[in-house]
Amino acid sequence: MFDLVIIGAGPAGIALAAEARAVGHDSATVLILEKGALHNWAIRQYYPAHKKTTANYKGHVAQCEGLLCITDMSKDETITFFDQVIQSYQINIRYDIEAFAVDRHEDPDGGHFHIETSKGIFDARVLAIAIGILGRPNKPKEYRLPPSLKDRLMFDITTRRIENEEVLIVGGGDTASEYVQHLFQQANRVTLSYRQHEFKRMNDGNLAALMALEQRREVLILRGSNIIELQDDAGRPRVIFREESYAPRSFDSIVYALGGTTPVNFLRTLGVAFENGMPKTDRAGETNVPGLFLIGDLIVSKSGGSIITAFNSAARAIKRVDKLMRLEELRAAAPA
Ligand SMILES: Cc1cc2nc3c(=O)[nH]c(=O)nc-3n(C[C@H](O)[C@H](O)[C@H](O)COP(=O)(O)OP(=O)(O)OC[C@H]3O[C@@H](n4cnc5c(N)ncnc54)[C@H](O)[C@@H]3O)c2cc1C
Repeated sequence: MFDLVIIGAGPAGIALAAEARAVGHDSATVLILEKGALHNWAIRQYYPAHKKTTANYKGHVAQCEGLLCITDMSKDETITFFDQVIQSYQINIRYDIEAFAVDRHEDPDGGHFHIETSKGIFDARVLAIAIGILGRPNKPKEYRLPPSLKDRLMFDITTRRIENEEVLIVGGGDTASEYVQHLFQQANRVTLSYRQHEFKRMNDGNLAALMALEQRREVLILRGSNIIELQDDAGRPRVIFREESYAPRSFDSIVYALGGTTPVNFLRTLGVAFENGMPKTDRAGETNVPGLFLIGDLIVSKSGGSIITAFNSAARAIKRVDKLMRLEELRAAAPA
């Protein structure tokens, strides 16, 4: 039985474990379960190799409320930053363990969580879920993705190296711009399809970089373009647009940069209440299920947050988490 189990070793999960260590909890009583082989699996998978990690991502204010904080840095420096946090706070992480289901057992000691994973069952007095939304990328809803094109339709750019290809990127946020910049550098011919006419969701750096590529005619931007159908053109995706001004065109690959989705079903099976499509939590991130906290991207907004908003959610949770953990320690120490 652990005092605190955290599911997910991304920025939020690591920050909460560090906060718990900093207020005096032994590393043997706090455990992170991570489905990847390394921490920050989502960042490793979705960030382009030469991307700059910006502290004010998506316009979130870069103001840190707790123990951890970052400034602008490279992807490698971001991973090293977390290596150092894990080492200096001696954070206990078990890798290659995916949590499938959780239920709460009431018992005379006040109840605990039963976490079913790919490597057996773990029990925790307090549970924090920090699985982010990147593991469930949004897919287009308006048209079908032909199964025969599976290998050509992608939701990140690290699963397969894309080089010397005709690539279409779909999206209009920071991630779309970063994918354009990276794939252009990897000698691809890049086209961006965005359904709006103006880019309003990008940070200044990403917008400037995209506009510069367009001005130099290194990237083609199809503004106000809506895809209505994908066809299989001898193994390549052929894109049909609603707008007649955009002729049908075949690409080698399409990369969708449409953000991620809250894992609603996973949270609903736990009995977490929802409001306007988002899980309902208080300021500390505690849900209607006592002792169950949600932190990080899961609770920031439908379109996700940033590394600093993930850190701040852990900073807001720690006081309540600490109080509950100490209560449990007292209970465990009390004579029968
Ligand atoms: C392309 C891209 C670029 C970005 N650039 C920036 C930037 O420059 N600056 C910035 O601040 N933010 C950036 N962000 C956003 C930032 O990465 C996220 O806001 C942040 O990573 C959220 O942290 P998190 O801990 O909530 O979730 P995640 O980082 O998604 O971490 C969740 C972790 O949980 C693990 N996990 C998931 N499901 C399970 C399970 N069932 N069992 C066990 N483990 C599980 C995952 O493997 C992962 O390691 C970017 C996002 C993307 C997609």
